[in-house]
Parts: sequence; structure tokens; C-alpha cells
Amino acid sequence: MESQTELQAGRGVCQRGCGLRLSGEDMSSGQHCCVEALRTVTEALEERSTTLEHETRMQRLRWNRREQSLLAQVTALQTEAQLSALQHQRRLHHLSSDLLLPDNT
Ligand SMILES: [Zn+2]
Repeated sequence: MESQTELQAGRGVCQRGCGLRLSGEDMSSGQHCCVEALRTVTEALEERSTTLEHETRMQRLRWNRREQSLLAQVTALQTEAQLSALQHQRRLHHLSSDLLLPDNT
């Protein structure tokens, strides 16, 4: 009876030591075992941790691929801009030589 009182105190939170929130079923059946409950919680947390680590790895791979793709685009645009600048420089050079050295013949 004392354990029932302990379980019911603190509005569904185990007062025996684990401090876990208990379902009404756990409290009324008196089957709650702190060690077992904590083991279950630990297992669930470890599983969650593994899942998160996996997701982090996948996310990092995705970001690395995205970064590579964006860097390739930047490089392509830089090359395009350099070529375009060279073409304009050449055209400007031709135009200025035509103006400075008019064909008098
Ligand atoms: Zn407990």
C-alpha cells in the first residue's frame, strides 16, 4: 500500500527514485519497476541517438554534394565571365586600332 501511495504522489511521476512519468496503468497495477523502466528509456534513447547520428551523416553527405555542385557552378560562371571579358577586350582593341590608325590608302 505504501508503494501505491508513492506511485500516486507527484501526479503520475514515480517517487521511488526513477522520477519517470507513469501511465495510469502502471500506477494502478503496481507493476512498475524503476530499473526496468529506466532500462527501457535508455534503450529508446540509444535507438534515437543512432537514428539521429545516421540522419546527421546523410545530411552532411547531402550538403557536401550540394556544396560541390555549387562550387562547380561558380567555377563555370567565372570561366564564362573571363572568356566574355577577353572577347570584349579584343573587340575594344580592334575598335581602338581602327580609330587610331585609319586606313588612308
Ligand atoms: Zn520508478
